[in-house]
Amino acid sequence: MSDSDQGLALGCHLSTSKGYEAMGKTAVSIGATTFAFFTRNPRGGNAKAIDPDDAAALRELLRSHRFGTLVAHSPYTMNLCSASEDTVDFARRALAEDIERMELLPGNYLNFHPGSHVKQGAERGIELIVEGLNQVLDPGQKTTVLLETMAGKGSEVGRTFEELRAIIDGVRHDELLGVCLDTCHVNDAGYDIAGDLEGVLTEFDRVIGLDRLKALHLNDSKNPVGSHKDRHERIGEGTLGMDAFARIVCHPLLRTLPMVLETPNDLDGYKREIELLRGLAANTGE
Ligand code: FE
Ligand code: FE
Ligand code: ZN
Repeated sequence: MSDSDQGLALGCHLSTSKGYEAMGKTAVSIGATTFAFFTRNPRGGNAKAIDPDDAAALRELLRSHRFGTLVAHSPYTMNLCSASEDTVDFARRALAEDIERMELLPGNYLNFHPGSHVKQGAERGIELIVEGLNQVLDPGQKTTVLLETMAGKGSEVGRTFEELRAIIDGVRHDELLGVCLDTCHVNDAGYDIAGDLEGVLTEFDRVIGLDRLKALHLNDSKNPVGSHKDRHERIGEGTLGMDAFARIVCHPLLRTLPMVLETPNDLDGYKREIELLRGLAANTGE
């Protein structure tokens, strides 16, 4: 890696349990140059207060180690398009709060699952998501909010590029929105990213616009294209396969994006996958 080539911004999900700076140190110890973390308990409610000094220490660590943009993740329980009004209220409050919390790490990304419409239909789901985003996005915020491409399990909204486009179209401050492409999810949603990467990117560009593509979740899949399952597999051990990931990490439009692993691994496993992917990028890269 030369000075002009920073290499991939690559990392995995990390735990906030020991604090923000500790999370950054863990990232450094496994060779990561970005990472994801949950802005609150992924399955739960209230968020722990963030110590501003701890956030400042992480900012300094990220700067000195030249990290790429971080991709924080909102909790899975946050459903902006639930049929229950209480759930929608909670989701809007949690998202607004999480954006505020992210402002302690300005300039990074906050990714979220658009939601599940639970029998209300995708159209109504999109309406509710748009309403929620219009309520919580603050034109002054330094955080870009990312919609994640979903596998289409159950009644998930965001299973097609068109659904994500419709959300973006409805949002007033759409300059604050981007998309995080999850390789397992798009495969399971029916986009053949392993067999036809160029075709999928062309379709993404036609429907959403590649300027919206801000981050990647790198996951192999346990299931075939279009299965709508959402079961992540380790890199190279699933239906996408190693060659697909070699093409992804070398792609001129993708290699500059932050890439986050969400594969079934412990920290050592992530360290090995990060090395593996850096190897793939170096071998077939330039
Ligand atoms: Fe996700
Ligand atoms: Fe994901
Ligand atoms: Zn998933």
